[in-house]
Amino acid sequence: MSTTPHPRLVELLQGAERTLIFTGAGISTGSGIPDYRGPGGLWTQQQPVYYQDFLASEEARARYWEMARAGWEAYRDARPNPVHHAVVHLERRGKLDMVVTQNIDGLHVRAGTSADHLVELHGTNRAIECQTCGDRSDPEPHYARFAATGTAPRCACGGFLKSATISFGQNLRQDDLGRAMEAASRADLVVALGSTLSVTPAATIPLMAAEAGAPYVIINRGETAHDGYPGLDTRIEGDVVEAFPPAVAAALEQGAD
Ligand SMILES: [Zn+2]
Repeated sequence: MSTTPHPRLVELLQGAERTLIFTGAGISTGSGIPDYRGPGGLWTQQQPVYYQDFLASEEARARYWEMARAGWEAYRDARPNPVHHAVVHLERRGKLDMVVTQNIDGLHVRAGTSADHLVELHGTNRAIECQTCGDRSDPEPHYARFAATGTAPRCACGGFLKSATISFGQNLRQDDLGRAMEAASRADLVVALGSTLSVTPAATIPLMAAEAGAPYVIINRGETAHDGYPGLDTRIEGDVVEAFPPAVAAALEQGAD
C-alpha cells in the first residue's frame, strides 16, 4: 500500500487559491459511519419516510424518529479522520474557498472547518429543527424522550420536530445551494472526495466548477457518474484517506519555503 502522493494532485493543490472540496459518504466510512445509501446500508433495507408523509401522519413521524434514532446512535461517537483534518489545513493556509458536503454527520464542523467555508447541502443530524418556527436544539434529550415514550416529540410552539437534515421529498435550502453555486463559479480547483457523484442536484456543483474552467480531480473507491466527463483532469481510484491527506501535506510542505 503506497502513500506516495499523486504528483498531479500535489501540483494542482500548490497552485490553487480557491479550492472547492466536494465530499460524500466515502470520506466518513473512515470515521466508522456506515454509508446509508450504499450496499447493505440502512436505507436500502428500510423504506425511507418522505417529508410529505412526515408532515401528514403521527405514525409516519414515529417511524421517522425510530430510524433517525438508529442513525443518531451510529453517528454520535464518530470522530473526524485525516481527510477532514487535511481540509482544515487547506483552509488555514488560505487555499480553501468552500467545502460542499453531502454528508449529514457534521464531521467537517467537528474537525474545525469554519461556517464561512462550509455548505452542508443535505443538512446536519447534529441538530433538531422545528418545522414550524425553525428553532434548533441539541438532539440528545429529544432522542432520549422518544426512546422513553415512542411518540415523536414536538416543539414548545406545537410544531413537529425533525433532524435538521434534508429528508426524501424535501427541497434543498435555497441559500445553501446558492452559496455552493457561487463557490463553484469562482473555484480555481475542484476536488470531489468519496462521492459516487450520482445524487443530484448536489453532484452538479463540482461539475459547474469544472465547466467554469477549474481543473477537476475525483478521488473515489469505485465508479462515479463523472468518470466519463471529458473535462476531467485527474481520476484517482482508491481510498480517500490514503490518497488525499498525503497530497495536501506534500503541497503545503513544498509551498512553505
Ligand atoms: Zn417551534
